[in-house]
Amino acid sequence: MHDDSRELLDRTAAHAAEFLAGLDARPVAPAGSLTELREALGRSLPEEGTDDVRVVDELVRDTAEGLLASAGGRFFGWVIGGGVPAALAADWLTATWDQNAAMHACGPALAVVEEVTGAWLKQLLGLPEEASFAFTTGAQSAHVTALAAARHALLAERGWDVERRGLTGAPPLRVLTSGEQHASIDRAVRLLGLGTDQLQAVGTDAEGRIDLPALDRALAESDDPTVVCLQAGEINTGAFDPFEEACSLAAARRAWVHVDGAFGLWAVVSDRHRHLLSGVGAADSWTTDAHKWLNVPFDSGLAFVRHPSAHREAMSIRASYLVHAAEESGTPPARDQLDWTPEWSRRARAVPVYAAIRALGRRGIAEMIDRCVDHAHRLVTGIGDLPGAEVLARPLINQGLVRFRARTETTTPAPTRSSRESNEKARPGSAEPPGRASEPCASRW
Ligand SMILES: *Cc1c(COP(=O)(O)O)cnc(C)c1O
Repeated sequence: MHDDSRELLDRTAAHAAEFLAGLDARPVAPAGSLTELREALGRSLPEEGTDDVRVVDELVRDTAEGLLASAGGRFFGWVIGGGVPAALAADWLTATWDQNAAMHACGPALAVVEEVTGAWLKQLLGLPEEASFAFTTGAQSAHVTALAAARHALLAERGWDVERRGLTGAPPLRVLTSGEQHASIDRAVRLLGLGTDQLQAVGTDAEGRIDLPALDRALAESDDPTVVCLQAGEINTGAFDPFEEACSLAAARRAWVHVDGAFGLWAVVSDRHRHLLSGVGAADSWTTDAHKWLNVPFDSGLAFVRHPSAHREAMSIRASYLVHAAEESGTPPARDQLDWTPEWSRRARAVPVYAAIRALGRRGIAEMIDRCVDHAHRLVTGIGDLPGAEVLARPLINQGLVRFRARTETTTPAPTRSSRESNEKARPGSAEPPGRASEPCASRW
């Protein structure tokens, strides 16, 4: 390596270490105003180049007042994690190696890392071994990936090739939700050309879970191809839908079940919280994030699909200039990542996930989840004990809700559970774990 590059990287590593070391002491909120940040960073377009070391030093200096200390242990807003050290280090290497993780041919080692990590994740998350997977930018793009597979399968079953013919003239495809789905489901439905008018809210029970009798009625109402979107950890209430029951209702009507488990799916790794996910493996597709509860640096989402051929049909692409992995007999073929993701050129984002899983192990991940849940309970209880405070919802996992009464206030009704217009901050929680029940969904694709 050129001496200058080494100096630059050593210096950058020192800046990074200093930032991390300061996280426990610095204010969590950024100090700089928008105007100050624009003044600090807003130079005119440079005509001439600047020395690398100076670029990095000044980047550190000029962003310092505008960074949120969300990677530290004193940040409690939203479901935003920090970085497991090994994952951060592996992320640096990923950028250093700069492999294009579109295809095996562009970086065989990292294609294999992805293959191995996908298999580990299925084991960790209790998902079917035969499921296919994709490493996406986040749960949003994982929804698009998984629901594209659902769209393919449901329409192919009705003789409609959606990849070729598009949606014009296709059988209408409806998407049933509790009505409390994360807005990323709405956007996935928009991006896939289904349109948000096709979203049908069936309602929730008192605990914020999808209402089973209402789901059953909605399923019976129409023979249109149907996706049921369930959630593992609703962002405002933390509610987990009753997966076993909902999956068997959906299976009886040949509907596809998709589970948004952006953070909640990880609870399955913990012995204490696994019961919340009872039956989740019976669904057809799942999304989660590695950048949330696994604490891998952004951006790192995951999609899993029980029916690999539907997933592949929806995503894969062929081009004459590419060197596609050969189908060899005897050994499983190499995995070309672009057959499973909506992206072409991409970062090898499985690498930090691989490192995080190795560094923590299954036990370390379970301990991290239990610790986080315990902290959430302590925080909610502790704040609830303060004068004027009131606990509205104790955490089911990592979210709770506390409110402070105004001095003059006597009793006021609890806030409604209207999550759709709210942000992702903690809101009312549910208490009861979903029950356990019967048969997994039938596998058809
Ligand atoms: C964060 C979140 C999403 C969106 O995930 P991104 O990784 O930000 O795309 C979807 N669903 C739920 C429940 C979430 O918490």
